[in-house]
Amino acid sequence: MRTMAILGASGSIGTQTLDVVRANPGKFKVTAMTVNSRASVLFELAREFQPAICGMVHEPDLIPEDLKHIEWIFGEDCNERVVEAAKAQDVLTAVVGAAGLPASLAALEYSERLLLANKEALVTGGELVMGLAARKGKPILPVDSEHSAIFQCLRAKDHNEPESIILTASGGPFRTWKAEDIENAGIEDVLRHPTWKMGPKITVDCADMVNKGLEVIEAKHLFGMPEDRIRVLVHPQSIVHSMVEFRDGCVLAQLGVPDMRAPIAYAMAFPERLPARAERLDLAKTAMLTFEEPDTTRFPALKLAREALKQGGSMPCIFNAANEIAVAAFLQGKIRFGAIVRIIDMTMEKCESGNIDSLEDVRDTDARARAIAAGIAE
Ligand code: NAD
Ligand code: MG
Repeated sequence: MRTMAILGASGSIGTQTLDVVRANPGKFKVTAMTVNSRASVLFELAREFQPAICGMVHEPDLIPEDLKHIEWIFGEDCNERVVEAAKAQDVLTAVVGAAGLPASLAALEYSERLLLANKEALVTGGELVMGLAARKGKPILPVDSEHSAIFQCLRAKDHNEPESIILTASGGPFRTWKAEDIENAGIEDVLRHPTWKMGPKITVDCADMVNKGLEVIEAKHLFGMPEDRIRVLVHPQSIVHSMVEFRDGCVLAQLGVPDMRAPIAYAMAFPERLPARAERLDLAKTAMLTFEEPDTTRFPALKLAREALKQGGSMPCIFNAANEIAVAAFLQGKIRFGAIVRIIDMTMEKCESGNIDSLEDVRDTDARARAIAAGIAE
């Protein structure tokens, strides 16, 4: 039985992680959970899973009598403090946004393995996370479906270094839309993802392909692969989750139905594999797997993310902070959909970048970039 802390337990990845725990009795014990503000959901989950420690960013008005035996931790830094107090074997980071960075660093400090869903941690502080993992000799198991696929394909590398990574992308709801229609897309259109059901922030990120940009940066750090050897291919069926190409031209791919419980379960049970609970892949039924180059004219976010990665230092952190501000402004109805990428572009231009040597550097850059992006979004 492995002990687990689940950060962001009430969200899309968090609840699917709990589904995997439920489906495998006796394998995992959830000893800690955090959420942002959904107290009633956390109370229900705490009754079901009986963790020793719970954390919330926003302190609720009261803790129910029957849950007072749990150790409660509140505040912006609840993830880090919960991870330190729980000392679970595994920490799964399913929080959204830059809050995932200190949480991931704490996981590498106090736990045995980091099960990483929160890609923003690597985008904002990839060097810090990978550096700490290397110093501590602790594994990072990717939960993001593309990175899980690459991780699995790389296990067949024998003595060869891979030549390139091919990240697949669904293309999102606007793959076939005209530029002017994408510019003015409504919130409902944006939130209607064709193949995956996810939290609102990442769903917006998928619609303008910012998500794929974040994933290129994530892949660079996780697999130590330079930017020019990470390709992106649009694959609308979301069956091939990603691929690795070797020097002899052989390409290995990992396939499966689009169900996040598969990569979550893979990371949780690694190096074992759990029995499939979800629907199995039926390729005859799928019939067609298609691939196309991404259109960076209609979806310039991918170019911007590559630019940020090439500049390095704190530029990916600036890219991420501007995006978080712009996505929030879009979801509040304050800006057009097309403005998100322009805000990222302008923030990257205006915000001074530098080196990232510490969490403080990330926090400083993040705050400056957020202020600039918010000013543009006004
Ligand atoms: P979500 O919005 O559905 O859920 C976020 C969860 O985190 C909620 O439980 C929320 O209460 C909690 N939370 C937010 N901020 C917090 C904080 N500061 N401290 C503690 N808890 C906090 O988001 P999601 O779609 O589950 O995505 C989570 C992460 O996983 C993101 O980084 C996303 O990019 C990544 N991811 C998600 C998917 C997916 O299918 N949903 C796939 C790949 C990667
Ligand atoms: Mg992904």
